[in-house]
Amino acid sequence: MASPLPIVDSSDTTPNTLPVSETFVSIQGEGKLTGVPSWFLRTSGCNLRCTWCDTPYASWNPEGTRRTVGDLLAEARAAKVRHAVLTGGEPMLFAALAPLTHVLRDAGVHVTIETAGTLAPPSLPHCDLWSVSPKLAHSTPRDDPRDPGGAWAARHEQRRLNIGSLQRLLDAPGDHQLKFVVATERDLPEIDDLLSKLTGWTPADILLMPEGVTPPAPARRTAVAALCLARGFRYCPRLHIELFGNKRGT
Ligand code: SF4
Repeated sequence: MASPLPIVDSSDTTPNTLPVSETFVSIQGEGKLTGVPSWFLRTSGCNLRCTWCDTPYASWNPEGTRRTVGDLLAEARAAKVRHAVLTGGEPMLFAALAPLTHVLRDAGVHVTIETAGTLAPPSLPHCDLWSVSPKLAHSTPRDDPRDPGGAWAARHEQRRLNIGSLQRLLDAPGDHQLKFVVATERDLPEIDDLLSKLTGWTPADILLMPEGVTPPAPARRTAVAALCLARGFRYCPRLHIELFGNKRGT
C-alpha cells in the first residue's frame, strides 16, 4: 500500500533520492516511441494541478516512498528492457533525476523524460528523447472541488507555460516531441500561438492527443486527425489505454 508523501510542488534539492509513486514495465503508449517495451519510473509530486490529471496519486494526492538512485538503477537493469521512461508528476522537480539519467545512460539505457516543460534547471539531466507536454488553458482547475478558494487554479495558470524553459528543452541535446492534449478544435489557436514563440521544432515533432482517459469516440479521433492534417502534425493515440485501460502500472 503506497504511503502519502509530503506534497512537493517546487524544486527538491535532495541529492540522491526521488519520491516514487510507482515503477513498472509496460509498452510505451504515446509518442515517437509508441510500442517500445520500457521501464517506467513515476516520480511523485507536481508543480501543476491539471483538472483532468490522469495520475492524481502523483500530483493532487502524491503517494509513494523515497528511493535511492542506486536502487532505481538496479531495478531498471533487472527489467531487461533498453528504454527507460522517467515520468510523473513532474520529474524535473527533483535534483536526483540528473544522476539517475547519467547512470542509466552509462548502463546503455535510452532515456525519455516526460515533462510539462515548466522547469529547466541550469544543469539539465541527460535525455535521449525530451517528451514535453505543455499544458493548455483547459487544464486549469477552475471551480475544482479539490481546490476550494482557487489557490491552485491561480498557481497553475501562472506556471503552466514557461517559454524560456520550453525553449531550453528544445535546444537541449537529444530528440524532442511536443505533445498537446486537445479538448476541442478551439485549442488550435493556443497551440499555434505557443509554437510561434518557439524555435527548433518541425511539424513532425508536434503531436496532438485527444483528451480523456478512455479510448476516444470516433468523432473525437476524426476531429483531432483533421487538426493534424491541417498543420502537418502527428496524431497521437494512447496505445496503453487501448491495450490495458486506464490502470496504474501500465
Ligand atoms: S502536469 Fe501531469 S502530473 Fe502534473 S497535474 Fe498535469 S497531468 Fe498531472
